[in-house]
Order: sequence, then C-alpha cells, then structure tokens
Amino acid sequence: MIKAVFFDLDNTLYSFDKGTKLGNRAFGEYFEKNFGVPCEEAMNDWREMMNLEIERLGIHNAAYHSRIIRAKRCLMKRGLPQNPHARILGNLYWDTLLDNLEIEDGIEELLKALKKKGIFIGCGTNMTAEIQHEKIHRLGLEKYFDTIVCSDEAAEEKPFKGFFDYCLTMLDAKPEECVFVGDDIENDIYGSKNAGWNCAWYTKYPKPRNEKRAEELGVENRINNYRECLRDGKIYLGNLEI
Ligand SMILES: [Mg+2]
Repeated sequence: MIKAVFFDLDNTLYSFDKGTKLGNRAFGEYFEKNFGVPCEEAMNDWREMMNLEIERLGIHNAAYHSRIIRAKRCLMKRGLPQNPHARILGNLYWDTLLDNLEIEDGIEELLKALKKKGIFIGCGTNMTAEIQHEKIHRLGLEKYFDTIVCSDEAAEEKPFKGFFDYCLTMLDAKPEECVFVGDDIENDIYGSKNAGWNCAWYTKYPKPRNEKRAEELGVENRINNYRECLRDGKIYLGNLEI
C-alpha cells in the first residue's frame, strides 16, 4: 500500500528552466549596467562559477546552490567590490525567478486528489530551505505539503541514499510504501530507486542522455502530463495505481 508521495520541486512543480534563464539574464544585465562587463561574458562567469563552487565545496554541501556566494565569486574574479553587490545580485536572480513562476499544468488537481485520499505529501529537493519554501508558497501549493525536505536540512543531496532515508524520518513508512516523482533521471529516479522507493519520472523537460539512462534503470512509471494521472476516478503515477 502506498502511504506517501514525495515530489521534487524544480522542473517538477514549476518550470525552473524558464525561470533560471531569466534570472541568469538579470544577473548579466546588472554586471553590464554597473561594471561595463558585457552581459554574455558575465553570464559565462556565472555558469563557470557554479562548476568551480561545486568543485570547491563538493556536491554534499548544499551551499553550492547559494546565488549570493556564486555572485561573490564572480565579483572576486574581476576584482570588483563584493558588497553590496553579492547580496543584490543573489536576490536579483531569485526575485526574477520568483516573479516568473509558472505552475505545472494539472499538478494542483493531482495534489488535491492525493490529499483527499489521505496520502502523505512531501517535497524533496536539492537546494536551500529559504528559497524552496518561498517558491512553494508563491506557487500557492503550501497547503498540500505535509513536509518540505531540502538538502541543507537533510545534510545530503539527491541522488545519495541519505537524502531519501532522511525523508522517511518525516513519517511512519517503509521505502516501498513511498513514491518519488521527479524530472531528474539521476537525482530523482536513480536516487529513489536505489533507496528502495517506487518512482515516477516526469518527462516534460527532456535532457540529453536521459532516455538511455532510463532504459538502463528500467524505469517503469512515466508521467508526461499530470492530467493523465487522474482517470476513471483513480490516481495513477505512471502505471502505479495509488
Ligand atoms: Mg528537478
């Protein structure tokens, strides 16, 4: 019997791809306007700094998601004053993304149906708690979630098993009584499967090499559109009836 469904957040409850593109551009434009650094060049620094921060901090440290730290490193690279710009840039990125949140079609109806059935609903996401809670609030979905687990709280990132084990401490259930829904074939699907959970892959945001990896992992449940989850008065996550 399924007792709980956990959802990833970015590109699962809303389009992160769209929001981050706009946030990156706002970052670049700020650099151009204030420091005369061409927008595209600043955006390249921003991307490069993300990879350097992952290298420096390691992927087990959720601090690498911080846009303020990333902005600070971009300013340092060019010998520009860190303050107040690191704070302003970090907030500018997130404010731009938050102002452009677009909820996934059909997700609210699915959450409503799960809630009505008495299923425990969680969000399990790689990122820091402050911004993730704010996103869910702005999406108008806060009332559906029994818990929101972010990787800084879990002290472990997806796809590592520790993240999923930590999620289980939020309720009384075994991994096989839980389902994880997410877009990322590695973090969400491999990670939850490896931790003994059921999983359903949300396929609206395809990435290169996903199909091959999905085949390797033997992914059984796919969701192309949340509207297909509710049919004949029942709830399905891929082939899995809840
Ligand atoms: Mg995601």
